[in-house]
Amino acid sequence: METTHNYITPLPDQAEMPLRAPVVDQFGRTFTYLRIAVNETCNLRCLYCMPEDGIGCCHSPKSLTHTQISHLISSAAELGVTKIRFTGGEPLLHPQIIQIIKSAAEIPRIESVHLTTNGVLLKGKIKQLRNAGLGGLNISLDTLDADRYFQLTRRKVYSKVMEGIEIALSKQIPIKINTVILRGFNHDEIGQFVELTKNNYLTVRFIELMPFDSHQVWKTGKFMSAEHIRELLFSQYPELIKVDGTSTEHEIFQVPGYKGKVAIIPAYSRSLCKNCNRIRVTADGKIRNCLFSRDETEISPEMLMGKSSDDLKKLIQGAMWKKPIDGWEAAKMQGENRDSMAQIGG
Ligand code: SAM
Ligand code: SF4
Repeated sequence: METTHNYITPLPDQAEMPLRAPVVDQFGRTFTYLRIAVNETCNLRCLYCMPEDGIGCCHSPKSLTHTQISHLISSAAELGVTKIRFTGGEPLLHPQIIQIIKSAAEIPRIESVHLTTNGVLLKGKIKQLRNAGLGGLNISLDTLDADRYFQLTRRKVYSKVMEGIEIALSKQIPIKINTVILRGFNHDEIGQFVELTKNNYLTVRFIELMPFDSHQVWKTGKFMSAEHIRELLFSQYPELIKVDGTSTEHEIFQVPGYKGKVAIIPAYSRSLCKNCNRIRVTADGKIRNCLFSRDETEISPEMLMGKSSDDLKKLIQGAMWKKPIDGWEAAKMQGENRDSMAQIGG
């Protein structure tokens, strides 16, 4: 099959590219945010992410080690990366996650370190996470109903997640709640999620479903567009006002008088690609220059051991330079797609 890349200049030889910060692509975007999936394993089985069987629960052969992750971040920091997010799989299952966060926070030029988690193991780790220098948590929670939570995640741990959120809030860790909206499953809970922002300084982010689940959900008509989510939101809260936010969150709102905020993420519509500032590394050590890309760049074990830092930097530069103009172009590329977001990190 023929691919169209929409490149504006021929790709240079990676080895010929001089090293310089920040990392840029041929469309003028700069990449200062590195997201690393530290494993592929998970203690939940969200219907849109993982099959019931097949991906291990706790032991992952595809996990970067503490040393490998630190080398990666040091090299990226020298290239101008300032923000790190650890994700997975479930990053709190990684046996060295606290030390990994601590080391990342201590690397020169790294300004903030964040974690995306399902929250199941949060309660026992909040203090250590905060002491390690964690700057913020994204907690995935798609429903406020314990039975629905079980239906979606196939695990009875709703109360553990809620306890984790409460403790994190009480310790004043900045929190964003990630809520994937599924038509006919949780779209009737939008108002309840907005009410979470009434007395809590947190942001609820409504996220479009993405087709990273060859297992089941994408084909069942549960996708709801950002535009539709926006309409539902405004039908219930016409008084919402627009507030400042980050470049990758479509629009951020606040109900007047409420402490927290509400955002909509057009993850599938891909309308914010021009603002993309992310470098992604998969749990098996591949640079992915777009969530939807099929063109991954493998990092050699030698580079991950810190043996050739300049080569690693050139690899990062080269991988990002060839980032397609948007996620639609990326999805046209040849190569194998990944079945689960747990392999990419979300
Ligand atoms: N296990 C952690 C968690 O759930 O937060 C981190 C990894 S998870 C892959 C990261 C994010 O990807 C979660 O917020 C999850 O809801 C989202 N995600 C996974 N599969 C998705 C899909 N098919 N469409 C949209 N979001 C998805
Ligand atoms: Fe696990 Fe996160 Fe995937 Fe749910 S979305 S199965 S919590 S990796």
